[in-house]
Amino acid sequence: MRYYSTNKQAPFATLHEAVVKGLASDRGLYMPETIKHLPPSFFDTIDRLSFQEIAYTVAEAFFGDDVPSSDLRHIVYDTLSFDCPVVRVTDNIYSLELFHGPTLAFKDVGARFMARLLQYFIRQEGSGQVNVLVATSGDTGSAVANGFLGVDGIHVYVLYPKGKVSPIQECQFTTLGRNITAIEVDGVFDDCQRLVKQAFLDEELNAHLRLTSANSINVARFLPQAFYYFNAYARMKELGLADELVMCVPSGNFGNITAGLFGAEMGLPMKRFIAANNANDIFYNYLQTGLYEPKASIPTLANAMDVGDPSNFARVYDLYGGSHERITSYISGATYSDEQIRETMRSCYASTGYVLDPHGACGFRALSEQLAPGEVGVFCETAHPAKFKEKVDEILSIDIAIPERLAAFMRGTKEREPMTRQFDDFKAYLLKEAKS
Ligand SMILES: *Cc1c(COP(=O)(O)O)cnc(C)c1O
Repeated sequence: MRYYSTNKQAPFATLHEAVVKGLASDRGLYMPETIKHLPPSFFDTIDRLSFQEIAYTVAEAFFGDDVPSSDLRHIVYDTLSFDCPVVRVTDNIYSLELFHGPTLAFKDVGARFMARLLQYFIRQEGSGQVNVLVATSGDTGSAVANGFLGVDGIHVYVLYPKGKVSPIQECQFTTLGRNITAIEVDGVFDDCQRLVKQAFLDEELNAHLRLTSANSINVARFLPQAFYYFNAYARMKELGLADELVMCVPSGNFGNITAGLFGAEMGLPMKRFIAANNANDIFYNYLQTGLYEPKASIPTLANAMDVGDPSNFARVYDLYGGSHERITSYISGATYSDEQIRETMRSCYASTGYVLDPHGACGFRALSEQLAPGEVGVFCETAHPAKFKEKVDEILSIDIAIPERLAAFMRGTKEREPMTRQFDDFKAYLLKEAKS
């Protein structure tokens, strides 16, 4: 399969190139040249298949030309070491719980898959180590670090701003050891991102070391997210509720929902999608007006969705040939203030007992408001509410239990390398410590 850039000014890339490069040379996002349609027979019997079996079929459609089936099967099964179940919240609203992985958020799926695919490519090339550099404001670092933990041939450097990530988030990448190094930068997130970007451009560093990024726009992180939309359909079909299914995705950078839209292009029978936003309403406004106008992001309760210029908008736009009409006929929007998020968490908990996290709350609310008679909705519960314990406890007046795998991180010993925000210091550190 060849991959083209959404900006159409870069040459086609192989899967291998697209995974290692992340972003195309014209700064566009890679898209698979074709999206294979899965046969109706697959959907007729999908409810009899396990999550892993379904995911393998979907993976085969995207990556089957590039990765032999036994390797691909291994990568998929190893990635999905946890389930993504659908759980009933009300008669017509179900939660697709994507938080049963190591860092309790949906980003685990993409990060684990990418780590294993990269390892497969490195082994193919023979010897040498690849160094993954990732700048994080919190959640990406933990998903990427845990996704790559213990994967041979890869070392991960997580750069994070000193004092600017929550204690729970910090534990999830500073206590791992092994092939993960946390670097505590005396600066803000933008400094971390600048250091990483400069490292990729530095000739001397790149002559000595193989550097790559694990950015969320990477095709190997983004496409595997399609797996759980097929699983959601299968599990709802098992319940006899899949005839008029509406999928609602709390969205920030729009990677998650775009993977679902790719699923629909492969034939997944979803009636329509809803993109639920917090107060960062850029996509919502695009749907209303046809104008895409990026803004500075606004901090909200659902902070993983605080994005003022969603990168994957370029993919959505490209997927539908830039047609506002096609986009609005299949996707609707919603936007909620922090007060509405709080209110939704409280009313859902009071009437159903289900504890929503602030991101999932946007999804639940959009379905409550927009489902038509006969439709059944599934929203992505993108993170475990305990990841936002302080907020959730305060809003719901409860003391939510911290799952054991999260508590285990908090008992670990924190180790990190202090770093200034000067590129020369970071470069000297990599030249001294990183292996080639
Ligand atoms: C990253 C994230 C989102 C947003 O997902 P996108 O793919 O960027 O749209 C939503 N909720 C949580 C908890 C996240 O970590």
